[in-house]
This record gives sequence, structure tokens and C-alpha cells, in this order.
Amino acid sequence: RCGYVAIVGRPNVGKSTLLNHILGQKLAITSRKPQTTRHTLLGIKTEGAVQAIYVDTPGLHKENEKALNRFMNKSASQALRDVDVVLFVVDRLRWTDEDQMVLERVQYLTCPVLIVVNKLDRMDDKNELLPHLEWLTKQLPNAEVVPVSALQGRNIDRLESLIAERL
Ligand code: GDP
Ligand code: MG
Repeated sequence: RCGYVAIVGRPNVGKSTLLNHILGQKLAITSRKPQTTRHTLLGIKTEGAVQAIYVDTPGLHKENEKALNRFMNKSASQALRDVDVVLFVVDRLRWTDEDQMVLERVQYLTCPVLIVVNKLDRMDDKNELLPHLEWLTKQLPNAEVVPVSALQGRNIDRLESLIAERL
């Protein structure tokens, strides 16, 4: 099995950190400053019979909405036509207008979506996560939720097996 996995989400949710952890190397630049990833980066991971090609998208942001549209517009974009799985990365608690913007684009996609709830390590109360997530899963009824900590590598193996199942 082989396929493309797009990592989307607003700046600072941890997309690059996640990609680095999956690949086991520092490929994408991570930073506290949003907009650190200016270009789309590719990373390839081959494990047994499964090959996943990861696409780390530039931070989704009003300033590069055009680039995003190009990327997300199915008919116009070869990149997205080739995408087999989308990882919609969100912060475990903070939901912003930029997340909303990304969500509205992800809702148009027909490929499988995994909602990756990142920064699990910074969550004190498990219940804090739930009200927001319930709402989010209603917006993306076919998406599966995977809570992770990209920084600590928690639950990344589970995420990778869910990806492999969808390639
Ligand atoms: P991107 O803009 O979505 O690519 O986000 P980055 O990967 O650059 O990460 C933004 C910031 O969040 C950096 O300071 C990361 O160290 C931090 N970060 C990423 N993942 C985690 C996580 O799982 N837990 C915590 N506590 N911080 C994280
Ligand atoms: Mg990044």
C-alpha cells in the first residue's frame, strides 16, 4: 500500500512536530512562531509493505489563503487529487477562527479524514476535551478522532496504523 497523507491545520497546532516524530528526523522546522513552515514539505516513510508520503502544508492563514485554496481545491489541484488521507490537526483545547477556516475546507473533501487532537500532554482535565470534540465530530461525521502528543510521541503508533488502513 502506498499513498499521500496531507497534514492540515492552522499554524502552531503541531503539524511539523507531528511529521518529525513520524519520520524520526527533523525534516520540518518547528517553532513557537506561527508561519515557520513556508513551503510544503514532503516526507516518505516506508514500513513493511506500507509507504506513506506525507505533505506538511504551510500554516493555514489568511495571508496565504490563495495558496491554500490552490492546494485544497480538488479540481485545480493535482496535489490534493493525489491525497489519500487527510490529517486535520487541532489543538486539544483552543478552537479559533483559523481552525474554523480549515474545517470548512476539510468538509468538502471526499477522502478519509483523521481528526488529530494534539498536545494531549498539556491537558489537565480529560473532560475539558469532550464538549468541543463532540461538536467537531458532528461537523465531520466520517472522521475518526485520534488524540496524540506529537511532542512526547504519545499515540502516534495508533495514528500511523489508522493511516495505513486508509492508504
Ligand atoms: P505547526 O505550525 O502546526 O507546524 O506547529 P509546530 O510543529 O511548529 O509546533 C508549534 C509549537 O507547538 C512548537 O513550540 C512545538 O514545540 C509545540 N508543540 C507541538 N506539538 C506539541 C505537543 O504535543 N505538546 C506540546 N506541549 N507542545 C507541542
Ligand atoms: Mg509547521
